[in-house]
Amino acid sequence: MKTSLMIHGGAGTVESSAEYKKGLDAVLALGKSLLENGVSALDAVVACVSLLEDNPLFNAGKGSVLNAEGRVEMDAAVMDGNNLKAGAVAGISGIKNPVQLARLVMDKTPHVLLVSDGATTFARREKVAFESPEYFLTTARMEQLAKAKKTGVTALDHSMQEGQKMGTVGAVARDRNGNLAAATSTGGLVNKKFGRIGDTPIIGAGTYADNETCAISATGIGEELLRVVIGKTVADIIFYRGVDAAGAAKQAVEILVQKVNGRGGIIVIDKNGAIGFAHSTPILLAAGYSPERDDFFTF
Ligand code: ASP
Repeated sequence: MKTSLMIHGGAGTVESSAEYKKGLDAVLALGKSLLENGVSALDAVVACVSLLEDNPLFNAGKGSVLNAEGRVEMDAAVMDGNNLKAGAVAGISGIKNPVQLARLVMDKTPHVLLVSDGATTFARREKVAFESPEYFLTTARMEQLAKAKKTGVTALDHSMQEGQKMGTVGAVARDRNGNLAAATSTGGLVNKKFGRIGDTPIIGAGTYADNETCAISATGIGEELLRVVIGKTVADIIFYRGVDAAGAAKQAVEILVQKVNGRGGIIVIDKNGAIGFAHSTPILLAAGYSPERDDFFTF
């Protein structure tokens, strides 16, 4: 079977797209070669998201944004569409690659979601890589937080949030055996409150995969994506309305806008390997390929 892959580096607005293109292009090339060499969709999405987590341009892993206390708190999830197994972590700090910890939760525990201190204890036991606070505290992120704090009074103002770049990362894939998988990783929203968790690690919201329908990864304002359970909504549209990935992505984002005036974007691969994406933000930083479409960018 021919393979398909889509990756994203968030939604929102960006001043210059060239560096994001470069970042996504390298990950697309890696993911493509893995899938074409017979690597599973699950391993491919974890490899792609790990690489995006290591790139400080994106809001995940090293490039995670800072919360109101100037700390990094990350969320990540992975799901295997072959058996609906899933693993996720939320509110974690100091872990180099949160998506790999999510994978370990899936593979090595009977649970789906571990948070905060418990997730950190588990990470130590599994000997995953940790990094010092300095690794995550980039100048760009500190300046970004200072700016958000200065305009704090209007932080919930719609117009200010519209200018916000949401650089969460994600990947969806279909492998040579027709198996689907999805993975998403994020630092959340700039200036978020302590303990705030978004859509990313919630199975059925920011991340979802089921071989019978599709694999999907979301980005955008987590509170809005959570309230329409965006991932499962896409899968249900495919299942009940019989549309393909492109149609389902469009319909789900229409629901996001109509119901909660939501700002976000999604990437989707359906059970036939067709790809789809849609967004209500000015842009969605995404790239992919499928049997029908050569390598492409959405911006
Ligand atoms: N969806 C993420 C969250 O709300 C943010 C993002 O997509 O950048 O945590």
